[in-house]
Amino acid sequence: MDKFAQNYVEHFMADVVAKNPGEKEFHQAVREVVTSVAPYLEAYPHLLDLKIMERIVEPERVIMFRVPWCDDRGEIHVNRGYRVQMNSALGPYKGGIRFHASVNLSIMKFLAFEQTFKNSLTTLPMGGGKGGSDFSPRGKSDAEVMRFCQSFMTELQRHIGQDTDVPAGDIGVGGREIGFLFGQYKRLRDEWTGTLTGKGLAWGGSLLRPEATGYGACYFAQEMLATKGETFEGKTVVISGAGNVAQYAAKKAMSLGAKVVTLSDSDGYIYDPDGLDEQKWAFVMELKNVRRGRIKEYEAKYPGAKYFPGERPWKVKCDIAMPCATQNEIDKADAEALVAGGCMCVTEGANMPTTPEAIAVFQAAKLLYSPGKASNAGGVATSGLEMTQNSIRQKWTAEEVDSHLHRIMSDIHAACVKYGTEEDGYINYVKGANVAGFIKVANAMADQGLV
Ligand code: NDP
Repeated sequence: MDKFAQNYVEHFMADVVAKNPGEKEFHQAVREVVTSVAPYLEAYPHLLDLKIMERIVEPERVIMFRVPWCDDRGEIHVNRGYRVQMNSALGPYKGGIRFHASVNLSIMKFLAFEQTFKNSLTTLPMGGGKGGSDFSPRGKSDAEVMRFCQSFMTELQRHIGQDTDVPAGDIGVGGREIGFLFGQYKRLRDEWTGTLTGKGLAWGGSLLRPEATGYGACYFAQEMLATKGETFEGKTVVISGAGNVAQYAAKKAMSLGAKVVTLSDSDGYIYDPDGLDEQKWAFVMELKNVRRGRIKEYEAKYPGAKYFPGERPWKVKCDIAMPCATQNEIDKADAEALVAGGCMCVTEGANMPTTPEAIAVFQAAKLLYSPGKASNAGGVATSGLEMTQNSIRQKWTAEEVDSHLHRIMSDIHAACVKYGTEEDGYINYVKGANVAGFIKVANAMADQGLV
């Protein structure tokens, strides 16, 4: 980075930190993007004059609200709900809803900010947004989750709509929660529209939406590996998480000939040296999605596997790592362990799972490393395809959706190569994704005037 870019980043970040005190995840996400695009801004100074960066980090709107609900014993609880409507230059706000105890304004803003560039990369007409609550569905009955979702949607419904803001799932929000949220939206608004995505297949959902983030991440990893003449065949894959993204990343990696040896949740990870197979995968699906159990139960069912409580899976030797759980789950020591273990490719399924120090380790070792905003964009892209199907009142086949998904992931990869290839030929996917995503949003904002 030259002197101008360095100065620009430091001044800009000082302002962002002063204006958004304590929002460390948001600062982290902004610093990464502004570091990538500063040289581009230097080359296109009209974007500096238009204060595009200053506008892009300021959400168009933040909605925070009270979510009161009653548990099965009659006790009253109060959670906090959020919707961050970050940027609508390219289309209606679009992004998931997260229910997790850790949710706060900083996490919501970082996710909405990332989403803006990710949605731009998909080439579909979608702006960026994100929402959620510090409510944890873990350990709650179906009836409690339903009452919470109904209370949450009673407020949220006045701020969203098929042409305004289209939420979807994220951590803690899967098919069950989308069902309850959609039911309450429909009841209050008296309309049946595709205002939420990730819907059930019988009521407006798209084939392949549940699979899309994990499958898309594997399609992206295939493209990354191909730049080195490699494939998934015969590779050992370490995956974190055991939720939606991890489940389908594991399934696709297996079908491409890889051996998936780990899965995890927030309590620990399981290591299965023989690798998952179809039967073990089906067990995990039932465990996590039906019984809502913990990943440690895998060890009791398959004694060849070992459970490591309180640990993350990154010390396991592997060729490919796919973090699919949560933000900042790979730190510097984890990254060093992965590099020392011979890992050649890190493809993010989660959002911002790698700390900046860990990214530096991967890039110094010239690993294939992709940020989530590029490699997990298959989920929101397929949500975009669900919106299209809802609008034209048609349903595409799984093959049609899969071919769109495949093409979108390979186009995102090509955009990263175009804007991220460095002088020595190394593909800096972080820079590529940030610059490619930024250009479209920035130009749209410039075209649309000072709004
Ligand atoms: P799920 O709720 O289905 O699964 C999340 C998994 O991650 C669970 O195994 C969960 O374990 C684990 N996890 C959650 N929080 C933590 C934590 N603080 N520490 C360790 N493990 C944790 O969520 P998804 O699979 O949908 O989402 C996973 C990631 O992928 C998130 O970063 C999300 O933003 C991102 N993503 C999701 C998309 C989607 O389409 N669903 C699209 C694009 C990105 P536990 O059960 O113990 O909480």
